[in-house]
Amino acid sequence: MDKKRTRRLGNKYLILSALCVALYGCKEDNKKPEEEVKQEIAKVEAPKEIFEFGFKLNDYIVKRDTVKSGESFGQILERNKIGYPKIFHIAEKTKETYNIARFFQQGKPYTILCSKDSLELPETFIYQPNKEEYLVINFKDSIHAYTSRKPIKYVEKTITGIITSSISETIDEQGVSPVLTNKLADEIYAWTIDFNRLQKGDRFKVIYTDKYIDDTIYAGVHDVKAAYFEHNSEPFYAFRFQTDSLKGIVDYFSEDAKNLRRAFLKSPIQFGRISSRYNLKRRIAYYGYKLRPHKGTDFAAAVGTPIRATANGTVTESTRRGGNGKYVKIRHNATYETQYLHMSRRNVKVGQFVKQGDVIGYVGMTGNTGGPHVCYRFWKNGRQVDPLREKLPEAKPISDSLKAEFLDFIKPIKHQLDNIFFEPEVTDDMELEKPVIKQAES
Ligand SMILES: [Zn+2]
Repeated sequence: MDKKRTRRLGNKYLILSALCVALYGCKEDNKKPEEEVKQEIAKVEAPKEIFEFGFKLNDYIVKRDTVKSGESFGQILERNKIGYPKIFHIAEKTKETYNIARFFQQGKPYTILCSKDSLELPETFIYQPNKEEYLVINFKDSIHAYTSRKPIKYVEKTITGIITSSISETIDEQGVSPVLTNKLADEIYAWTIDFNRLQKGDRFKVIYTDKYIDDTIYAGVHDVKAAYFEHNSEPFYAFRFQTDSLKGIVDYFSEDAKNLRRAFLKSPIQFGRISSRYNLKRRIAYYGYKLRPHKGTDFAAAVGTPIRATANGTVTESTRRGGNGKYVKIRHNATYETQYLHMSRRNVKVGQFVKQGDVIGYVGMTGNTGGPHVCYRFWKNGRQVDPLREKLPEAKPISDSLKAEFLDFIKPIKHQLDNIFFEPEVTDDMELEKPVIKQAES
């Protein structure tokens, strides 16, 4: 029993010393002279009435800083006139809410609210482990701690654009985050519009929401509510709609309730260009103008560009052979197979299950090829066909029971989209004006 007790005490001692290390750090050279450190902390006396973290900042002397390399929670408090026994109590009492000694991280911001008198005694410590959450430790009288979140605001915006070279350039020019480009190209239109083959004059309108934390901190494009894309003068509407509120499943549907997703992506390359289409009557000068049918679609892209599986399936071949070079073949179901040739490197093995969009290899020049490209071959019932002309199967259609609800839901949104107008087309002698980005609170 005595032995047990000693061991327990020993453990206790270990925990205590570990805590001290966590609180204070252990390296001597991390300690900076008092004077130097003090100067780093910016004192902000708040004008007007400013609220943050649920406090009226005007009532305090506000000190803000970020955690420096090797700096501990204890060191910061000690530097701010809080003595050791109190620091220990604070860490102990806070532990259940948030183990600050353990999760204290370099570079994270903290705020200290000090009494507005000559003593400048710290009363509250606020730590922000991420942009949205914050931990408040009150220690003016008794010690108590809680975590909270900053209010999030979504702001609805619209953007229009006319393609001159690429979608990313058109969106970028307007100072809008590339996340929007990716949402349009990868999430919404990847199955219906080939963004490698956009035409000059193709144009789009998008209603999307931006996310803000605490009204002021921009946290990126949140989601796209609806979009209109005119490609080759053909309109493509997309409306975001939740088909399963329990599972939170959201999809994009056209104005007539068709799912915009297809079982196959339009292209195995995210951004590249078609250099040669499927052509059974191709004749090549090199071969004396003899008939050399091209049963694939060539997408030119730089060596090393990722090649994506255009649909879910199982890899049936992954090898190097003759003119094909390094290639991968995937069986998707009883009807469809796809194949990807001339890779520089393969990324999958035979038997492996791949999901739509998975990187199965990289563009190269292996086998019979004049330049870096992927030759994309598409089989339907064992026969090679042109995927660009095939009517490819729809992903999951909207259920009949939801269709009426969907049509009701999109009516005002479609009206909103149709009433967004394109800027007049820019001609050479016109100053290029910034397109309009309208703001409305959602
Ligand atoms: Zn080819």
